[in-house]
Order: sequence, then C-alpha cells, then structure tokens
Amino acid sequence: MSCPCQSGKEYGDCCEPYHSGQLPKVPLSLMRSRYSAYATGLADYIINTTHPDNSQYLQDHKLWKKQIEGFCHQTQFLGLEIHEEVIGEKVSFVTFTAKLMQNDQDASFTERSRFEKGGGWWLYHSGEFKLGV
Ligand SMILES: [Zn+2]
Repeated sequence: MSCPCQSGKEYGDCCEPYHSGQLPKVPLSLMRSRYSAYATGLADYIINTTHPDNSQYLQDHKLWKKQIEGFCHQTQFLGLEIHEEVIGEKVSFVTFTAKLMQNDQDASFTERSRFEKGGGWWLYHSGEFKLGV
C-alpha cells in the first residue's frame, strides 16, 4: 500500500520501518511517521515519540492512548503538506498542513512543530498553530 503520509512511496519504504521500531534520524521522518501513525491509529507510536515536556503529555499512558485512538477514529486523514524545515543540531522546526475531516467538516490545520533531540533520536516537543500559510 502507498504510505498514509502521502509521500508517494510504499508504506514499507517510508514510515513503516519507524512504526516497527527504527528511530527517525531526521525530523521530517518523524513528522511524516507521526502523521501516518495518526492515520493508521498507532497511538503507542505517538506516545513514544512525544517529548515529556509537551503540554499534552499524560503520565497515564492508558488514558492518553484512549484519547488518541478516539481522535484517530473520528478523523479522516486526507493528506500532509510540508511547507518548511529548519534543521538544527538539537532543535528543529517543521511547518506543515494536515488535511483532516471530522464529522464531514474540514478540520485541516497548519502548524509549526518543534522537535527536540533526546538520547540520539528526535521527539515531538510542541506545536504552534499558524494562520495564512
Ligand atoms: Zn510515510
């Protein structure tokens, strides 16, 4: 199957290796693999790649997992568009638009995500909504 992150590649050549345990070495791979994890309901991957300093980080992983699964269930994931990457050694930013539908309504949003490196791999730290990109 083609990858849910809409890179145009096969899932096995794109995000699947990360979902099976390989660590994303560049922020864009993390970005894409998180999007496709949402699209396929892989809540554990979202939790494992979220920085503990994130404001939505829940110590109660069971509850958090339920929340993510609920979100995935009621959302259709229609595409991912990458606008900008700013890559640093410890901190990187990726600006993207996620095309989503919820209850037949457009729920797309544009975000500038902050990624931080911890223990040799990248984690999603936080996001800032952007308008008019
Ligand atoms: Zn992918």
